[in-house]
Amino acid sequence: MAGPCLPYIKGMTLQIPFDNSYAALPDGFFARVKPEPVRAPSLIAFNEALARDLGIDGLDDPDLAALFAGNALPDGAAPLAQLYAGHQFGQYNPQLGDGRAILLGETIGTDGIRRDIQLKGSGRTPFSRMGDGRAWLGPVLREYVVSEAMHALGVPTTRALAAVRTGETVVRERPLPGAVLTRVAQSHLRVGTFQIFAARGDIPALQTLFDYAVARHYPDATEPAAFLDAVMRRQAALVAQWMSLGFIHGVMNTDNCSISGETIDYGPCAFMDSYHPETVYSSIDRFGRYSYAAQADIIVWNMAQLATALLSLMPDPEAAIEPFTAQVHAMPNLIRAEWLRRFGAKIGLSDPTPDDATLIAELLTLMQTDEADFTNTFRGLVDGTARDQFTETAGFDDWHARWQSRISGEEDPKGLMSAANPVLIPRNHRIEEMIAAAVAGDDAPFHRLMAAYATPFADDPAYADLRRPPAPEEVVQATFCGT
Ligand code: AMP
Ligand code: MG
Repeated sequence: MAGPCLPYIKGMTLQIPFDNSYAALPDGFFARVKPEPVRAPSLIAFNEALARDLGIDGLDDPDLAALFAGNALPDGAAPLAQLYAGHQFGQYNPQLGDGRAILLGETIGTDGIRRDIQLKGSGRTPFSRMGDGRAWLGPVLREYVVSEAMHALGVPTTRALAAVRTGETVVRERPLPGAVLTRVAQSHLRVGTFQIFAARGDIPALQTLFDYAVARHYPDATEPAAFLDAVMRRQAALVAQWMSLGFIHGVMNTDNCSISGETIDYGPCAFMDSYHPETVYSSIDRFGRYSYAAQADIIVWNMAQLATALLSLMPDPEAAIEPFTAQVHAMPNLIRAEWLRRFGAKIGLSDPTPDDATLIAELLTLMQTDEADFTNTFRGLVDGTARDQFTETAGFDDWHARWQSRISGEEDPKGLMSAANPVLIPRNHRIEEMIAAAVAGDDAPFHRLMAAYATPFADDPAYADLRRPPAPEEVVQATFCGT
């Protein structure tokens, strides 16, 4: 699909040092397609610090809005929509692909890492199916705020480079303001990218993809088994880290599961307020497949799908089933180890033992029974306010005494806990409030949240209100994919 001819904007100063590798892969990997220009772009946010890290120059460009709306193409861009498939809620969908996203190209940042720059909400592509290729303001700002907060929390994640209003209306349940997000990722390779070629039996393409992914992400893992292991390790660490922050991705379909091990696709994601392992926010997750606690299981299921796709690369796939299965079956132990490390740090332990897992689980059970706030309880262990989160104080006091004796030999439990237990997380009700304001034309709450979540471990009295869990009438019952 050839888009309309895009103007070169006079005086455009922004320079992105593109170095495109995906566009050099064979034709079957993508469709070349340009963004569809929008009526009246206006800039909501531009992440200058990230732009600098990406090696982008000419940041005082007066036409950033046009550029990040897709109304003008920066020099060196090779726009395309990527092809992929994926299991959605356990059902294999043989063809998905970028239906509302366009990869502009890649840059190599000041850290030497190659990253994709992608517009999301930039119009239809050959993979749009019934969709309009657009995004509305809500999910764009949600992804902007939450992905940048995740980064500040130290979680591997895609980043947000810019957000632009399109000046156009998109129709969802009702007419809503349109927007485009510019997303940055170490790559957009997904488990589903491997699945599509494996399912089609296109082994040469699968091999090409494998070689590409190895070179880009895991140069030491030149064999499928080593590659699987490397991806599993990053995903195990990622999911354990999510859980240590009360984060629920919400739609861990294999097409939303990144090969690089970054958090990707902030749709119905949410941070939990009061602790319950079965917490689900996503309106489409009716059976809790992607609930808070299920994430540790579902990531293993997703890695089993990657393993299945990789089997086709083996000289004797039949014979490889057993060792690959054993590898996948070892993943829960990886996750448990990462979980223990993360939650150990949350209670001030530098070298937690399996016995400590029991101590942590006991606290979580008390929290669950009392519906204690996840973030404030753990941060309260640093501040001395954890007890305030409980009505059933006897149980907490008993736990606290045993915990105190356990950490008595620790060198710097407070330091560990302060770095593992954030003061601020992007709470759902704040995100919803920010989106409602932006829809009404007020971006101040967006900018305030961005400022606050840039230092989530700092205890800044100016943001004391953002620590507060939702009042009963503020509780967000469900989140939406926002497509
Ligand atoms: P997601 O829910 O973001 O993981 O998207 C799942 C699939 O639906 C992907 O192939 C998307 O490209 C596609 N999709 C989501 N929203 C739209 C839209 N508004 N227009 C076209 N395709 C879409
Ligand atoms: Mg997706």
